[in-house]
Amino acid sequence: SMLTPFLNAGMQLWTKGIADPQTIDKTWMLGTGSPIGPMAFYDIIGITTPYNIYKLQVEHGKQEDQAVLDKLKTDFIDQNKLGLSTGEGFYTYPNPAYQKPDFLKAPPADLSKVSIKKVVVAGSGVLGYQIAVQTAFHGFDVTVYDINDEVLNKAKGKFTALTDAYKHDLNATWQQLDATATRLSYSSDLADALNDADLLIEAVPETLAIKQDFWEKASAAAPAKTIFVSNSSTLLPSQLAPFTNRPEHFINLHFANHIHIRNTAEIMGHAATDPAVYEQIVEFAKAIGMMPIELHKEQSGYVLDSLLIPLLISGMGLWASDVADPATIDKTWMIATGALFGPMAILDKNGMNTNYNVVKAIPGELTQHIAEKMKTELIDKGKLGEVSGEGFYTYPNPAYEQNDFLK
Ligand code: NAD
Repeated sequence: SMLTPFLNAGMQLWTKGIADPQTIDKTWMLGTGSPIGPMAFYDIIGITTPYNIYKLQVEHGKQEDQAVLDKLKTDFIDQNKLGLSTGEGFYTYPNPAYQKPDFLKAPPADLSKVSIKKVVVAGSGVLGYQIAVQTAFHGFDVTVYDINDEVLNKAKGKFTALTDAYKHDLNATWQQLDATATRLSYSSDLADALNDADLLIEAVPETLAIKQDFWEKASAAAPAKTIFVSNSSTLLPSQLAPFTNRPEHFINLHFANHIHIRNTAEIMGHAATDPAVYEQIVEFAKAIGMMPIELHKEQSGYVLDSLLIPLLISGMGLWASDVADPATIDKTWMIATGALFGPMAILDKNGMNTNYNVVKAIPGELTQHIAEKMKTELIDKGKLGEVSGEGFYTYPNPAYEQNDFLK
């Protein structure tokens, strides 16, 4: 129930040409700490199995799977590339790339392709401030812009806690962190912040109206050379670029929370994005220590959420339909895939209000049933997940972190 929608999501990303197999797997492995991604999973299962499943579905009238079937046939079945059993599938065997030590290492940047020196990060909230610190840590001058000095002072107050994590997780030195602090400046005046900016990274709230207003003002204030980038989680570049005076210099660059350790940067242009801008942003992402996740086309939810949401919905569905309890659902996923967490633990980390909003927005009998049960059994009782000390698990020390959970 969980594996099929998850694997299908990976297959769709590949056959629609959104991302390469290795990129899909890297995103999953880095984003969730799993030892394996969906495309490597297909190799282990054997490509004949998904081929037969999609064939059956097409025969039963699911015409949209014909493209998947055709691609599996020409790229794999006809060439006897059936996965692990024949020595080649999405990877080659033995020693497939995904098991090599450097598979998840951020590659070095080609700095000859990066003309960016001064970066402005707009929005100093959860993600914006992390992006600013990560960028300054890697040697760029960064101005943090926000609506007023009070908000900016709040952001400055997060520097020590944030950089303590750099010391703990990355062994960063005092000298590196002092240098990071000196590269950061703060401004609540947009025109002043954008003076001479090469790159503007927008991390303002996820509301179309706020983003529209911001991009219109930034367009009026920024020099012609400034590349525009949005960290939006749900709005596509083609939705935001029309609010700017430079759609060809507009691109989405999406970071994950705890950016210094979950270092994926999903890069998504739109039809009008200049390929040279795309290429420069890929190199910039590497230059700030990120693993660039290159999307070849627009895709709502990028790669990570496209894989994660089907898994979370199937986990929630098993719970809401009383098929299995949360710990059983997670144990199954963790044992079967070697993952550190199951879907129910991830839901606790996301917070129940976010889960509710996501699932409620998806039409369908099951999703509406999940939303209803989540509201009455969890949200109305203040069980909001890790943040409130209780969700599907109790915190601190949730059961899935105990040594005997998988015994
Ligand atoms: P947040 O609410 O923590 O911070 C938003 C900041 O933007 C606040 O400091 C606010 O004062 C400021 N702001 C509001 N209007 C502004 C304006 N007109 N100009 C400049 N600043 C303005 O939000 P967040 O969680 O950091 O999210 C920001 C963006 O990052 C959103 O697009 C979100 O989808 C995306 N994102 C968030 C996460 C996450 O885990 N929080 C992960 C990936 C992407």
